[in-house]
Amino acid sequence: MNAITDLTADERSRILAKSALFNPPDAALPDGRRDLVGMDRAELGVELAAIGEKPFRVKQLWHWMYHQGVTDFARMSSIARPLQEKLAERFIIGRPEAAVVQTSTDETRKFLFRFRDGQEAETVYIPDPVEDRGAVCISSQVGCTLSCRFCHTGTQTLVRNLGAPEIVGQFMAARDSYGEWPSPKGETPRLLSTIVLMGMGEPLYNYENVAKAMKIVMDGEGIGLSRRRITLSTSGVVPMMDRAGAELGVNLAVSLHAVRDDLRDELVPLNRKYPIKELIAACKRYPGSSNARRITFEYIMLKGVNDSEADARELIRLIAGLPAKVNLIPFNPWPGSKYETSTPSAVARFARIVSDAGISAPVRTPRGRDILAACGQLKTESQRVRATPLSG
Ligand code: SAH
Ligand code: SF4
Repeated sequence: MNAITDLTADERSRILAKSALFNPPDAALPDGRRDLVGMDRAELGVELAAIGEKPFRVKQLWHWMYHQGVTDFARMSSIARPLQEKLAERFIIGRPEAAVVQTSTDETRKFLFRFRDGQEAETVYIPDPVEDRGAVCISSQVGCTLSCRFCHTGTQTLVRNLGAPEIVGQFMAARDSYGEWPSPKGETPRLLSTIVLMGMGEPLYNYENVAKAMKIVMDGEGIGLSRRRITLSTSGVVPMMDRAGAELGVNLAVSLHAVRDDLRDELVPLNRKYPIKELIAACKRYPGSSNARRITFEYIMLKGVNDSEADARELIRLIAGLPAKVNLIPFNPWPGSKYETSTPSAVARFARIVSDAGISAPVRTPRGRDILAACGQLKTESQRVRATPLSG
């Protein structure tokens, strides 16, 4: 290993250790039952072995929970009644509670999910306007440690990480809401067929839980989403990008938003730690990116801040040679936000310059703005419960 790799590995361990401090409380219910959702196959095997069940039961349960979406052991027709009862005494197949569900005039649906300890996060389902399917935008943390100037979530300090059960649970509960688990006899169409990790929080500051959850949703015998249908968005946690690429291989989106360090330092303060040059180098190393699987650079359009011709030209220079596309995101306002979205002509000019350079640069249509469900508008009332300092 060379010195740079060593440094990255050290930094990565530090990030993982810090992240563990914000882990969710234990999944056991007050009555002692445990939630099976979010356990990986090995953990499920341990739980079942502890009650004297053979390993083949893992596959059976997995199918009922993740392929059929069943939450009631009594509906597991391939399992005999006595075992169904034994399972129900010890376990549950949980879902986060949908405390509020709002549907936008454009059909976008926002869920406020309440978890077992009362903390809350938001999830958004964005139907495709043309095809009969859509994307579920999932949160990875309650709040965020980063404080990007344009982001509503960034005004809510980090309360805690979401656990794998809560991350998988958001997707499963959203599917429940559309009644789209297949019946035992036939398959139903899957509207909710894509995941974007673009909700509240920075997924790479909660890597272990996010990775575990994504491995569960990618498992072919359960939910079975292909890694090509999952996009992880990061504000640029460079040391974790290689690991996410190697272990998960999902699509990568990078929240770039500025092409000069002085401006990015201000808009995305994480840039002071991992500046643009390092971020682009990490993108170049990201495994599996190709012309068929491009890295998405998200670029928020802020009036008079980052939307000039010079910015567009510098963007082209920065990402030259990378299999990339640029998503231009008109700024979505929220109560108290200080920015304005760029004028339509500035957005069109920016898009034209980038696409004339041969880089695809669609302008993202804001979805669900009326219910504060669009990019960067998510926030909940949850607050961090501070530990009382020990006296004496
Ligand atoms: N923390 C991750 C993922 C969540 S944010 C990240 O920052 O990438 C998802 C996307 O919404 C990011 O690109 C983010 O920069 C963008 N965003 C944040 N606030 C926004 C706003 N007010 N308007 C439009 N996009 C915003
Ligand atoms: Fe956190 Fe992403 Fe919002 Fe920045 S844009 S504050 S990283 S959620």
